[in-house]
Amino acid sequence: VSLVVGVDIGGTKTSAGLVDASGALLAVRTLPTPATRGPEAVVETAAGLVQALAAGSPGVAAVGVGSAGAVDPGRGTIVSATGTIAGWAGTDLRGELSRRLGLPVAVDNDVHAHALGEQWRGAAAGRADVLLVAVGTGVGASVVLGGKVRHGAHSVAGHAGHLPVPAASGRPCTCGGSGHVEAVAAGPALLAEYLRRAAADGGTGGGGPGGTAGGAQGCAPGGAQGDGQGGAPGRAGCLADVARLAAAGDLVAAAVLAEGAAALGAAIGGLMNVIDPEVVVVGGGVTGCGVLWWDALRAAVRAEALPVLRAVPVEPAALGGAAALLGAARMALETVA
Ligand SMILES: [Zn+2]
Repeated sequence: VSLVVGVDIGGTKTSAGLVDASGALLAVRTLPTPATRGPEAVVETAAGLVQALAAGSPGVAAVGVGSAGAVDPGRGTIVSATGTIAGWAGTDLRGELSRRLGLPVAVDNDVHAHALGEQWRGAAAGRADVLLVAVGTGVGASVVLGGKVRHGAHSVAGHAGHLPVPAASGRPCTCGGSGHVEAVAAGPALLAEYLRRAAADGGTGGGGPGGTAGGAQGCAPGGAQGDGQGGAPGRAGCLADVARLAAAGDLVAAAVLAEGAAALGAAIGGLMNVIDPEVVVVGGGVTGCGVLWWDALRAAVRAEALPVLRAVPVEPAALGGAAALLGAARMALETVA
């Protein structure tokens, strides 16, 4: 086998990458995901990207896909999904893609694909037992043991965002429960908490709080504008504003980031005690919040991890958006190995 294509289907964009057997990413094509137009349109978009890459490079032997939603890798179907892609749950993704492309297709969840990519060519290269945590608009994870992603009995293994932590006590979670780490550590939770505290602080007056309120005013309109234009970019920009304020000495911004990171670190430390990984890799947009966030995360991990695990490295993801493409490509290679 010389070439495969890895595909990453997310809520806002779909990417496909041409990858060789050594894990070199040779070409990438990306289109917006037609998320509101239903599964058929999303599958067509993914298939079109693969065909465009394959047309320029004959010899593509298989396709791997990392997709938003919980995926049953045995059946190649979407078991469940949030509303990000309309009607996505129940889609026979492998069947629909292999029918259009005439190639073997492997399908898994996008966080699992991220983990496989980092484990193949990134921050966990050469390690068999890996915990990957992704923290962005939500908190997800993938547990790789013996080089294999663990899916569990219902294909939902890795949902680390729904671990209970004391810092989240009483907070409603996206899953319908409460007290889960995602409710205090995900990007939207950090931003909302900063805006809440900054507004409360602004009412008390004084030099420091005045600076804080100014930061909040700079952030809120950007968020509103971003939502009007499509959501995620504006939201990320706003969290970046909080990170910039924290780096510039804003105590409220620094506290919000440190507390969110500490809650996530506690959850990660607890998971390490169960899984015993060689390395923990943390990726996603929130990891761009700076050294203050990372210091708080690592301190909380060490505080929670058993003594024998305190030296386990906690590393930033190394491959960015290429991780899911490479992980999906590795899944493709395994179908034809
Ligand atoms: Zn939850």
